[in-house]
Amino acid sequence: MTQKLTIIGGGLVGASLACALRPLDLDVTVLEETPLESGAQPSFDERTIALTYGSRKILEAIGIWDLIAPEAGDIKRIHVSNRGHAGFTRLDRNDIGTEALGYVVPTRAIGKALIDELHRSPKINFQCPSRAEQIHISPASNNVTTETTDGAVSSSLVVLADGGRSPATTMIGVNKKIKKYSESALVGIVGVDRNHNGTAFERFTEYGPLALLPLVNQGFALAWTLPEHDAQAMTALPTEEFLSLLQDSFGDRAGFFTACNQLTTYPLSQVEIESPVSNRCVAVGNAAHIVHPVAGQGFNLGLKDIAYLSEAIAKATLENADIGDTSFLQRYATTRRDQTRRVLRFTDGLLQLFANELPGLRVARNIGLNLIEIIPPAKRFLLRRTVGIAGPLPRLARGLPLQPQS
Ligand SMILES: Cc1cc2nc3c(=O)[nH]c(=O)nc-3n(C[C@H](O)[C@H](O)[C@H](O)COP(=O)(O)OP(=O)(O)OC[C@H]3O[C@@H](n4cnc5c(N)ncnc54)[C@H](O)[C@@H]3O)c2cc1C
Repeated sequence: MTQKLTIIGGGLVGASLACALRPLDLDVTVLEETPLESGAQPSFDERTIALTYGSRKILEAIGIWDLIAPEAGDIKRIHVSNRGHAGFTRLDRNDIGTEALGYVVPTRAIGKALIDELHRSPKINFQCPSRAEQIHISPASNNVTTETTDGAVSSSLVVLADGGRSPATTMIGVNKKIKKYSESALVGIVGVDRNHNGTAFERFTEYGPLALLPLVNQGFALAWTLPEHDAQAMTALPTEEFLSLLQDSFGDRAGFFTACNQLTTYPLSQVEIESPVSNRCVAVGNAAHIVHPVAGQGFNLGLKDIAYLSEAIAKATLENADIGDTSFLQRYATTRRDQTRRVLRFTDGLLQLFANELPGLRVARNIGLNLIEIIPPAKRFLLRRTVGIAGPLPRLARGLPLQPQS
């Protein structure tokens, strides 16, 4: 019998998961409260995000990459440096032999591709606008009922992909550890007077880490972590003043800044949940972990969640097993908890290291950057992590279809 699965949240991660599950014999319902066209859509907004080469593989395997590729800027190399100091390292696609280290894509373009696919798929019931309001688990009947703004949906498994924006994780009894940062992210689009040639820059400035990500044609997506007050103040500056401040902080390595628009700030936090799995419910993406965007890992981590989870669900359906069974979900939870923790610790550690102006640390990080530059194995290790192809990978992350072809 075809089993039912409900996904709460049709944002970046929930919609990607639904697309990944299309080849399986499953009835999938996606509940999304905010339509793509709405200015209030929180997942598909004005941000432009960096995807790793490993994420491209996953999007390729689930049939989405070709739809977003025309809007994806290649990251051919990354220049990492410490403004005003000698330490720097360069990561180049040629050092690892991939087509690119990553890609820079507007979230709206990803949203359009995903939501069009949800509408097109006969196996997916995409309910939008529809808000999940309550979750009732009845262990005796192997069933979870999700009450929504327009009726109830029952299924064997509920996936929480609400980005932690609703009380869903609290409803299923999962504890969260929240760390609020005193900084905000200032994001926007900046123009320069020259071609970027696919170079991304990560620079640790006196205000905080600043990333320039090359867009598909000209210009960069800016992501600057700043004390909250400075970030707000910068959005209020006249364009000329902002560009001059940006130039002073970043220097002229990328050229001379000529324009900026869509400057917006986002509050920053790190969220970790005790376990992504509870009775017949599993949390993925930002519902399971929120990571500081300094290393551009949030959605990349969410795509890994769906690669692992959809492989586990594929195995269960092939064996005619219950997709909401605790034992297979627990295996998923253990794998993902350890991998996610490593990314959260690495990102937080990076922030501590580069935010701290103690003289000893300043010297240490310059030496660190130079060592990475001159020791090939250290560089290769960092590169494999950067492009998202380190360690054992699930099928989708290797670009393979979810189920082996017979
Ligand atoms: C400034 C900034 C820059 C970033 N840069 C990068 C980057 O370069 N690379 C990267 O990989 N990641 C980046 N991220 C992280 C990335 O945006 C998130 O990891 C990603 O949005 C998580 O997707 P999600 O689907 O899990 O959650 P969300 O994006 O929060 O989506 C959740 C969805 O669920 C819906 N929803 C919520 N509650 C309900 C409900 N009760 N019922 C129905 N629907 C509901 C919402 O409307 C929304 O559509 C960045 C984040 C920020 C803030």
